[in-house]
Amino acid sequence: MSRILIVEDEEEIAELEKDYLELSGFEVEIETDGDAGLKRALEEDFDLYILDLMLPGADGFEICAKIRKNNEKPILIVSAKKDDIDKIRGLGLGADDYITKPFSPSELVARVKAHISRYNRISNSQSDEHDIIEIHGLKIDKTARRVWVNDEEKQLTTKEYELLTFLAEHPNHVFSKEELFSRIWDMEMVGDIATVTVHIKRIREKIEPDKSRPQYIETIWGVGYRFKV
Ligand code: CA
Repeated sequence: MSRILIVEDEEEIAELEKDYLELSGFEVEIETDGDAGLKRALEEDFDLYILDLMLPGADGFEICAKIRKNNEKPILIVSAKKDDIDKIRGLGLGADDYITKPFSPSELVARVKAHISRYNRISNSQSDEHDIIEIHGLKIDKTARRVWVNDEEKQLTTKEYELLTFLAEHPNHVFSKEELFSRIWDMEMVGDIATVTVHIKRIREKIEPDKSRPQYIETIWGVGYRFKV
């Protein structure tokens, strides 16, 4: 059974979330204080975290950042203010999803299920042998989520890695920015397709020997991008 930790100081909201999640078969723990929530998050195993931002003690920003140092389990941020969501995105704390209050409990449950199954899919695919993609000097180890160009390791962010891997898994297939955005950023409510352009640029800076003549990710003007082989 998947275990979820809710850190939320408004007890009514926390209990409502808990009720719905338990009805869907999850085991749910609640902490109403930030420090206590942080301690449990770091000491116990959970499959997903739901964090309020404004809490007594450690706030949601701090808890999120500290969980991410330890593990890659899904983190959902719940906030009353859209501004907070912009802020947490800007900070790059590694949250997987953001929900603005008020939200419907069934929406929360749907997102929790999606994130847990996505996480399980990724970690299952990483068992056993290393799954390697190798094209023209570019090597992606999907098991270890590491990337090399001509044997030199490149440090990519999670989204850069996911975008590059997705393109490399579909060589010569042209994807529009909209398609890439919906594939890679599928769970996020906020954002726009300019994000795709920015990430492609960053990936090129990291992997292309000559950025002005990309040999891996090719721009198809007016359409999108493809991984060239
Ligand atoms: Ca609060």
